[in-house]
Amino acid sequence: MPVFYLLHIDSFGNNINCKMIKKDWYMKIYEQTELDFKDVLVKPKRSFINSRSEVEITREYKFKWCPRKIIGTGIISANMATVGTFEVAKHMMQNKMFCCLHKHYATDDLIKFITENDCRDYVFLSMGLRDEDYAKIEKILTEYPDKCRNICIDVPNAYIPRVKELVIKMREKFPDILLMVGNAVTAELVEDLILSGADIVKCGIGSGSACITRRITGVGRPQLSTIFECADTAHGIGGMICSDGGVVYIGDICKAFGAGADFVMMGGFYAGCPEAAGDIIEKRFITDQIDEQTGERIVETKRFKVFYGMSSEYAQNKHYHGMPKYRASEGRVVQVPLKDSIDKMNQDILGGLRSYMTYIGARRLKDVSKCTTFY
Ligand code: 5GP
Repeated sequence: MPVFYLLHIDSFGNNINCKMIKKDWYMKIYEQTELDFKDVLVKPKRSFINSRSEVEITREYKFKWCPRKIIGTGIISANMATVGTFEVAKHMMQNKMFCCLHKHYATDDLIKFITENDCRDYVFLSMGLRDEDYAKIEKILTEYPDKCRNICIDVPNAYIPRVKELVIKMREKFPDILLMVGNAVTAELVEDLILSGADIVKCGIGSGSACITRRITGVGRPQLSTIFECADTAHGIGGMICSDGGVVYIGDICKAFGAGADFVMMGGFYAGCPEAAGDIIEKRFITDQIDEQTGERIVETKRFKVFYGMSSEYAQNKHYHGMPKYRASEGRVVQVPLKDSIDKMNQDILGGLRSYMTYIGARRLKDVSKCTTFY
């Protein structure tokens, strides 16, 4: 049998140990266990909190570069066309939660919104790498300096060099902005982006509910492990992370904060709310039950909303001029069941979070990660 070497590689890609093994295969595999939200539960702990009304579900955010402080609960609606909207933003702000507006609003519409609403703290304006995006954001930051200075540079793959270049450029040109950038899933990029000028790194690849990157490219990382590694790195150098994607239940939000996320971004979770953009579709299903009067099978009506990934062919056709030949669709269109209102969903999130904090003995949102132990 041939002799092979098993490389132990740390999170920066350095070979820290080289073990000789006998195997009939050779591959470069990280040996550590990688976890997702569904793989863990949280240990309840003795607590001095008697009621969930006693916990503080907001925290004061202080950033590495941006001199502003913001008090909020770090829940963010994703900058997707259906949930990163003005309508959703208004509801999020009411709870001191955040909304990352999608990239496809016209400059004038953005200006109208930020001048008519108090968007200073709770709204992010999104940009990609396109010159038009830069021109739009530059105009708003320059001509309306006291309105909205939270910017999100959003590129599915932040590992490409142009992302870091843009972070450096934005920080040089607008030193006081709150700058979030993504997406990353490993320590080395988180560190690089923060040291280049990002306050928050958006973390998650392949975990989104409307995302098919893992199927199309094989690339991705389980979300909980992403948070562990990226938060640890970011916090060590004064930065923060936003966990992006994969939240199915309110408990996943708790786990994300517990693992170290400072912010938690969600798309699919809000997509079924009536306030999210998108038509409502009614579908009829024939059930097994018989109507006693007519003797016929009962037909049940269910209502859905259309939700689509921003890298899907559907999105490319809707917001750009179709899918370029060099790209493959990395998103899908899904129909999500119509849910409660955003206000009700947010109330449920805050209720879940309060209960979680009571279970683990965390009096303040800021203490959640140090009070969390996972099974
Ligand atoms: P969700 O909360 O729906 O699980 O995840 C939301 C996140 O999915 C977004 O913030 C974004 O990072 C990611 N996402 C949105 N659309 C797409 C897409 O078309 N492809 C991929 N790969 N990710 C997407």
